[in-house]
Amino acid sequence: MPWSKQDIKLKSAAQVDKMQASCEVLASVFLEIRSLVQPGLTTAELDQVIEKLVRDAGCVPSFKGYNGFPASACISVNEEVVHGIPGSRKLQDGDIVGIDIGLIKDDWHADSAETIAVGTPGPEAQRLLTVTQECLELGIQAIAPGKRLSVIGTAIEAHARQAGFSVVESLVGHGIGRSLHEDPQVPNFRCFSMPDPVMEEGLVIAIEPMINAGTKRVVTLSDQWTVVTADRKLSAHFEHTVAVTADGPRILTRRGTGVAAF
Ligand code: MG
Ligand code: MG
Repeated sequence: MPWSKQDIKLKSAAQVDKMQASCEVLASVFLEIRSLVQPGLTTAELDQVIEKLVRDAGCVPSFKGYNGFPASACISVNEEVVHGIPGSRKLQDGDIVGIDIGLIKDDWHADSAETIAVGTPGPEAQRLLTVTQECLELGIQAIAPGKRLSVIGTAIEAHARQAGFSVVESLVGHGIGRSLHEDPQVPNFRCFSMPDPVMEEGLVIAIEPMINAGTKRVVTLSDQWTVVTADRKLSAHFEHTVAVTADGPRILTRRGTGVAAF
């Protein structure tokens, strides 16, 4: 269907506050699980902990059953970019594990991801994590009402390239609200083939750069979900749900109350 500006569902200040409440639960889930990410833990065990934390908070894990996805979190290790299915794989020292969680509280969605080092990562893995997190922060900082959406992807891509890394183009961020995925799509690169609306107050988007150590090309495994880098080099993924306000970006999934978004 052709896209039009009317497809973007802007949120009122009160609605953004409700989304903030959903996002705060999600941020607290991430803060709880960080210390659990240790060698020997299976990704299925991690998923079970996440689902319990989400449900104990009175929320619904939004990924479970989404297009048939079988778990509450997407857990993607090393060369896995996104959409990894939790299972019997045991995390090992030096792995990097991308954890992507969505939840619903009072009809409002929250979506966030972070990539965590297991034990002691190698220098290249650590640099990839640092740069990917910086990419997200720079993308968020580029936000202001009146600017075009493409300033986000332009900032992300410039930083990734400067570091010698590549940006996945076949998967992008998205609007979010009463649905997990709303318009507009939010590319993490300078994109000339997607609509480029002017950002307005009340726009809420999930920004989620996926940065690869090698090629930007990705392939989907035979499980129909897990996306891996075509060259099997490392990939990292960080995501925040962010509202555009008159004052600039408001990071709804900010971890805790500190200055740092993570
Ligand atoms: Mg996500
Ligand atoms: Mg997302």
